[in-house]
Amino acid sequence: MKYIVLNHKMNMDYKTMKIYLEQLKKLDTKGNKLIVCPSDIYLTNFLEAQFIVGSQNASSNKDGAYTGEVSAAQLRSLGVKYTLVGHSERRKYFKESNQEINKKIRLLLLNKIKPILCVGESLNEKNSDSTKEVIFKQLKGAFDKLSKKNVDNLIIAYEPVWAIGSGNIPTKEEIETVISYIKDLIFQNFNVNIKILYGGSVNEKNIDIINQVQGLDGYLLGTVSLDIEKMRVLIDKL
Ligand code: PEP
Repeated sequence: MKYIVLNHKMNMDYKTMKIYLEQLKKLDTKGNKLIVCPSDIYLTNFLEAQFIVGSQNASSNKDGAYTGEVSAAQLRSLGVKYTLVGHSERRKYFKESNQEINKKIRLLLLNKIKPILCVGESLNEKNSDSTKEVIFKQLKGAFDKLSKKNVDNLIIAYEPVWAIGSGNIPTKEEIETVISYIKDLIFQNFNVNIKILYGGSVNEKNIDIINQVQGLDGYLLGTVSLDIEKMRVLIDKL
């Protein structure tokens, strides 16, 4: 069983989403665990259709006067079970710091929502051989004040920033090196066997390569998550 997390990002108008939803209901997940992360305005559509649902974001504040924000408590009250945190697009466009990411994680865990924490290096960082250093910093900041029990309820998504939406993916060996680094680090510090997903340009063509990576618990899908036919082919190959 692999986790298959669909990150729709800011895509699909209402009519398109309704058609997509009907098609997704017919998708055979072959025993894999599908988690759908639609835009917030469609969360209830996917919840009512009995999907396991994640949000793409949550506020770092508990409640109150934060126009446009959605809190972890609100998400929980709806039935949302997972939330993406620290996605590179949020780090880049919304200037999310590791400290803010840590606040979000702690609020989510208080509300019994499992955070899916995205970490990964930029192309410059990869080229200057600082991937592990970057990921260490991201994890150290995000895991501040977390207990072993907290970490037990977290999932990590390794998403190299340069791979997201680019069509380029790391080699099998590169992914293996990074995920075993993350797994060892978390085991040494928290005694937890953390679940790790890979995300970044996964598609129905390259899944054969990525699926050979040892120790992966699943995939975070962006672009391909909008195309049910491609996902059908991808899932058939798992
Ligand atoms: C993502 O942004 O989380 C992602 C995996 O995107 P893509 O598959 O389009 O690279």
